[in-house]
Amino acid sequence: MSRLAIVSAMHEEMAALAPLVAGTQRLARAGREFLLGEIAGQPVILVRSGIGKVAAATTTALLLDTFDARAVLFTGVAGGLGAAVRVGDLVVGDELLQHDIDASPLFPRWEVPLTGRARFAADAGWSDRVAAACAGVCAAPPAGLAALGLGRPSVHRGLVISGDRFVSTRAESDALRAALPDALAVEMEGAAVAQVCHDFGRPLAVVRSISDRADDTAHGDFGLFLTAVAAEYSRAVVLATLAAAGAA
Ligand code: SAH
Repeated sequence: MSRLAIVSAMHEEMAALAPLVAGTQRLARAGREFLLGEIAGQPVILVRSGIGKVAAATTTALLLDTFDARAVLFTGVAGGLGAAVRVGDLVVGDELLQHDIDASPLFPRWEVPLTGRARFAADAGWSDRVAAACAGVCAAPPAGLAALGLGRPSVHRGLVISGDRFVSTRAESDALRAALPDALAVEMEGAAVAQVCHDFGRPLAVVRSISDRADDTAHGDFGLFLTAVAAEYSRAVVLATLAAAGAA
């Protein structure tokens, strides 16, 4: 159990990470390519999970069981929900919840049946280190942000919600905000990864750069951000995290 797993859903989120891996070994499992090697002298395993909760859960189970990864860092993009969460900001998910799970009235709304919980916690210490790295990245953000006309980014911490839907209307994001007022960001994988990490008892940190506001312009904003900034942002966050003393 020695490698740190670094996971993203999409190619664009990981594109700038693979070239950093030294001594690369590639292994294929379940249609995914796992890249084993070192970044900044630390043993890592990189993989693209694919989009959505099932793809993320399958990938995480393989990382923790087959590859015995010691911790997981999920890095990618998300839609901003919190009032202060702007495009270009970074959100570290302290808690993760599946917004589309509903076995009520048998179980409380959002509770994962038979687990007794709706919210799965990320690892506090590991998330602290990732958030500290994010603060450093925000002080000297990737050049692509300014090119998109975005100002100085901020780091937020709190609830990130996940579901198998790209949230791209104001009506839908308003409904999510009304139902879950403390949700900072919405994406499609984090809570699934958190549930699997919980089952295995392994630490997780989730960091998302905000590509859109999950509103009527989300589709266009998402595409622009993904092409222009996502890769650069993930690279900066991962390098800063691994450089920090005592990375998990
Ligand atoms: N490739 C497709 C679908 C992308 S799905 C496309 O180009 O449209 C969106 C991905 O980005 C998911 O992996 C999800 O985790 C994240 N994401 C970013 N903004 C999101 C939003 N507004 N709602 C849900 N997921 C979002």
